[in-house]
Amino acid sequence: MASNNQAGALGSCPICGAAVQTQHEIIQYSTTAGELGRWAECPGCGEAVDPSSDTPNGS
Ligand SMILES: [Zn+2]
Repeated sequence: MASNNQAGALGSCPICGAAVQTQHEIIQYSTTAGELGRWAECPGCGEAVDPSSDTPNGS
């Protein structure tokens, strides 16, 4: 696990595909599976999106 406290990309907007950065993050939450989820306001379309769901790196 790398420490990603500095500004960086959270992922891509699932709606418009814009790059969502950590500075756009609105809230963090823990899922029932114990994973960290994030909601961020997309700089492209302005919607509250979950950019972390875009990473096709799940187990
Ligand atoms: Zn968007």
